[in-house]
Amino acid sequence: VSELVLHVESNRQIGYFQLQGIMADDNQVIDQFSLEFTRLTLTLPQALDPGCQLTLRLSYNLRIPPVMDGYEGRWGYWGFTERQINLGHWFPMVAPLVNEGWNVPRPHFLGEQLTADSADFELELSLENPPADVLVAGPGLQRELGPNQWQFTLLGARDLALSVGEGLRQTNKRAPDGTQVEVYYFPSSAPPGLTPAKQALDSAAEALVLFEELFAAQYPYERLVIVEGDFPDGMEFSGLVFVGEAWFRTWRGEPNDWITAITVHEVAHQWWYLLVGNDPANYPYMDEALATYSEYLYFQRYYGELYDWWWDFRVRSFINEPRFVDGTVYQYDNARPYINDVYLTGAKMLHDLRSQLGDAAFFAWLQAYLQHQAYQLATPPALWGMLTPSQYADSAPIRQAFLTAPEVLPLPDSPTPAVSETLTLTDSPTPSMTETP
Ligand SMILES: [Zn+2]
Repeated sequence: VSELVLHVESNRQIGYFQLQGIMADDNQVIDQFSLEFTRLTLTLPQALDPGCQLTLRLSYNLRIPPVMDGYEGRWGYWGFTERQINLGHWFPMVAPLVNEGWNVPRPHFLGEQLTADSADFELELSLENPPADVLVAGPGLQRELGPNQWQFTLLGARDLALSVGEGLRQTNKRAPDGTQVEVYYFPSSAPPGLTPAKQALDSAAEALVLFEELFAAQYPYERLVIVEGDFPDGMEFSGLVFVGEAWFRTWRGEPNDWITAITVHEVAHQWWYLLVGNDPANYPYMDEALATYSEYLYFQRYYGELYDWWWDFRVRSFINEPRFVDGTVYQYDNARPYINDVYLTGAKMLHDLRSQLGDAAFFAWLQAYLQHQAYQLATPPALWGMLTPSQYADSAPIRQAFLTAPEVLPLPDSPTPAVSETLTLTDSPTPSMTETP
């Protein structure tokens, strides 16, 4: 390659990422580059052959944006409030190279777009003059290097997210598989007499061992970090997830509530995002339908009597007509129909498929998919192609009911493949989001 493309998610809003310089290996300045929204293209001093290495040093300043009100607040995983700084998708990452094209999906104002290869990360963090009551939450192996200085090592990850909070507290427990589960929370969020942090902690630990069993794949780190985020909903990262403060604040003390559903959902993304990656702009159902259906798997296992509650609360109260699952984020300009289709109808599709296949075949399918696609970027043919030919044929009515493109795999007797097995590249840098000051 003579050109290298990096994804700079923190430049989706202009003015927050200021690039100062790029140097290659031997202090060679790279001065040929262009930054268009989230796409940073560098021309290398000399072409890089397959299997060769290159060290790049990027210098940049970041301004952290304030967490916004309303729906845009959901980007608060990259933002600050009075008591919290969240650093999610904050540094430039090499974009995945798929069939000689760099995949930097164009930004959109809903859903997620960043598509990341699996990589190893090591990060050193120093805080200058922090308030006395500050706590740092980060994933992976954490070492204290000195006062207000830490190192985080995270292997086979899609990102490295951090959160720093004033007045933040931590509670933890060991899950039955030995994983240290930690919840970072603001005590002031707890309704009187209730401990939502403990609810998040217990449900995360239960979900962790359940998903290891059902999906037959170990959670890959020694620690799983859950952070109460000062922004709506939740967000998955590698080894660290956010659960929105509203779910802590509004908990009513029962397991069947948002805090449980969203905590379990974000934990499930450790399998359907961290382990099996996907392009969340073009194939968002690949992780979101599976993460949402995993919530149901959790309630079915641990609270059998609540299984119908979950369908009513999460699915039936929002959808009552047939909808399609396989849209891209760009087809939606409103979050509700997007979630109804991709997440909720997606969960219904998986449930119908499970009913048809039976439990043994359904979980064997998901396990085979994980085994083949862990640490890769999966596409719909990779998922559906793990069904046996007869299972795939039998699932045609379900695919026709739920997918706008039900022929996911090439027809057996067609001379040319009906669907390419590769990622569709949408690398046009055309911005579609509104800029905020
Ligand atoms: Zn999700």
